[in-house]
Amino acid sequence: MKTIILKLDRHDSLKRKHPWIFSGAINVVQGKPESGETVLVRNAEGEAIAVGAWSPVSQIRCRVWSFDPAEIIDKEFFRFKLEAAINRRHALGYDMEPGGACRLFYSESDGLPGLIVDSYAGTLVCQILSAGVEYWKDTIAGLLRELLPGRAIYERSDVEVRGKEGLQPRSGLVSGTEPPEWIVFSENGIRYRVDIRHGHKTGFYLDQCNNRRKIRHYAKSSEMLNCFSYSGGFAVAALAAGAGHVVNIDSSRTALTLVEENVRLNNLPLSQVENIEANVFEQLRAFRRQQRLFDLIVLDPPKLVDSKQALNRGARAYKDVNMQAFALLRPGGMLVTFSCSSLLAPALMQKIVADAALDAGRQGRIIDRLGQSADHPVALNFPEAEYLKGLCVQVE
Ligand code: SAH
Repeated sequence: MKTIILKLDRHDSLKRKHPWIFSGAINVVQGKPESGETVLVRNAEGEAIAVGAWSPVSQIRCRVWSFDPAEIIDKEFFRFKLEAAINRRHALGYDMEPGGACRLFYSESDGLPGLIVDSYAGTLVCQILSAGVEYWKDTIAGLLRELLPGRAIYERSDVEVRGKEGLQPRSGLVSGTEPPEWIVFSENGIRYRVDIRHGHKTGFYLDQCNNRRKIRHYAKSSEMLNCFSYSGGFAVAALAAGAGHVVNIDSSRTALTLVEENVRLNNLPLSQVENIEANVFEQLRAFRRQQRLFDLIVLDPPKLVDSKQALNRGARAYKDVNMQAFALLRPGGMLVTFSCSSLLAPALMQKIVADAALDAGRQGRIIDRLGQSADHPVALNFPEAEYLKGLCVQVE
């Protein structure tokens, strides 16, 4: 079997069952594994410690499939992983209703690094982000058909990170009947339409599901400002909970059109919705000049920190937008502020939010901490899976 041998003392993370092997940890490569091929991993002493997928161009040169070096990586191995993940979702109550949506498979957290499978009202949308999953993609698609019969499979591997694995972007129907232009699914009693072909990620921010439910408590009869609204997940949840007025800001016109459609789909009053196509950073300043105030502000920016080098710049932008938001809250109001940058650690995020309140001259209290929904679990051996963090801050 093709084998990689690690450098001396470079297998500590593997002992803790962390599945990534960086190029710098590898001493020798025996045989010429092709991209995605299974390799045996030995430590410097020659002891076999794992089997993984070879990724020749990525900095993460190998991703471990199994810490049992005798494990045979074949169709049955993938069947076991997929079935186990689906069963775990079912045990949590996910995927029980045909019209619902959830993440059925979440990459390292479910034991197959680089595979994401979401389900929207029965249509599966997959993302393949690693050389190893790419190598086994037909096997995995076949298994999804067996385990979840009758569901169309659509691929959304049109993401830049595939480049790091030496893979080209790809999207399109994998099997089943071509899904409709819009898929409608329901969540917490609300209906959303999603464009799985062009929408963000696999079409929708499923990771915010629990948080959309949570903000309903704070939304009642409020005047709400929903920054970085995308298709209006939070806006529709708030309106359904009785928000009096919701202002959505997004730089994308397409996103704001989706907000309108989602409001209409739920027979909620568009007269209570104001959509502003603008840069949030500028619009919040404009509101401040106009002395406009809100009871509830949701801040869900895109990833502002996407590399260690970008940490300072991202942190500054993050503080700025939080400071502007604090200044726009009525006394007693609530800021629900998120960060989806995994490089921004929870403690640092809290510090930045605290500094932002200080600069805005507001006193606040954290009344709740939010995270990604339970169908996006964080495997204890893979803390990097935790990326979405949120704080609910009630201001004086
Ligand atoms: N809150 C959304 C997800 C937000 S995704 C949800 O729950 O579904 C981030 C959104 O921010 C995208 O729709 C993107 O168009 C928008 N965006 C990114 N930078 C922006 C900026 N500077 N000003 C306004 N919108 C921005």
